[in-house]
Amino acid sequence: MTILVVDDTPHMRIQLKAILEAGGFAGILFAQSTEEAFHYLGLSGAGNIYTGIELILMDIIMPGTNGIEACRRIKAHPDSRDIPIIMVTGDSSSESLKAAFEAGANDYIKKPMQSVELIARVNLHLNLRQETAIRRAREHELLGMTKQLEETTIKLQAANESLQHAIDIDGLTGIASRRYFDEFIKREWNGAVRLSRTISASMVDIDFFKNYNDTYGHQRGDTCLKLIATALKDAIKRPLDIVARYGGEEFIALLPDTDKDGAFEVARAMQENVAGLRIPHESSQVNKYVTISIGVAAMTPDRNKEFDALIGFADKALYSAKSKGRNRVEISPDS
Ligand code: GH3
Ligand code: MG
Ligand code: MG
Repeated sequence: MTILVVDDTPHMRIQLKAILEAGGFAGILFAQSTEEAFHYLGLSGAGNIYTGIELILMDIIMPGTNGIEACRRIKAHPDSRDIPIIMVTGDSSSESLKAAFEAGANDYIKKPMQSVELIARVNLHLNLRQETAIRRAREHELLGMTKQLEETTIKLQAANESLQHAIDIDGLTGIASRRYFDEFIKREWNGAVRLSRTISASMVDIDFFKNYNDTYGHQRGDTCLKLIATALKDAIKRPLDIVARYGGEEFIALLPDTDKDGAFEVARAMQENVAGLRIPHESSQVNKYVTISIGVAAMTPDRNKEFDALIGFADKALYSAKSKGRNRVEISPDS
């Protein structure tokens, strides 16, 4: 710990040294001019820098740069602005004190000095500085913790999002999952009730898919499911339409604001897309390529109807498509 005394008068330096040493302060550095003080503080651009300077006792009237000007410069520099400066002055006119405080001085002491007063003020400012340093360190620590918390929150959000994504997307086919579909239909159904809009559902099932697996193996079966999922998805055009994997080799398309004719057209497009894939299926009893059957249902919901009914009708229509020979689209008579 070093106290820097800046004074051009030799006997003042001697007096200050005696008082400070009597007060128990050992590390005292003397500057005979403000230029020398700047040098010690590293503000002159070159030379030794005493990083341990913790307090400055500054004479006001000195040749060259006076104490007030020096104070301003020390307080303007980020490396030295926190060092408390006590002005030591014979000129205690209010003008001069006002100028010193405006320049950033922390305190002043009048000449001739009372040793008790000097020691008390020096101690006061050293303690204050120490407390400020502790408070800053705590603030810094707190800031670090806040930042860490923010970073953790961001990571957690990202993890949540990717988890949500994983739940919403079917792992095999990359289209909407059953879970996502269940949420989606609830929302759309309620919207359709409010606006009295027709909503349609098309249940899609691959024909003779068990045979496909038995003939080509499960892995090729998976590849086939992926291709078909993409082909079905390519058939829907409106941003609100979705195709989801309903389970196994069954898919469902939900088309908000679409009647049975519109849904039928989309179903035909799905069938054509799948036909266009020309996936060989030698154990199919209806075609030499993989085909699908589709059951279409449309409803204008009201408060007394549940969306299960719509899915039930689509499922029944699908069953009818299967029993009528497969590779076809059937519209529910309840639509
Ligand atoms: P249908 O024309 O009447 O629909 O006959 P199908 O053989 O397609 O119907 P079924 O329901 O008897 O068989 C469905 C098959 O789908 C059985 C099962 O092995 C297969 N399957 C279901 N999920 C998957 C899957 O994730 N991967 C593969 N490779 N096959 C699946
Ligand atoms: Mg099935
Ligand atoms: Mg099937």
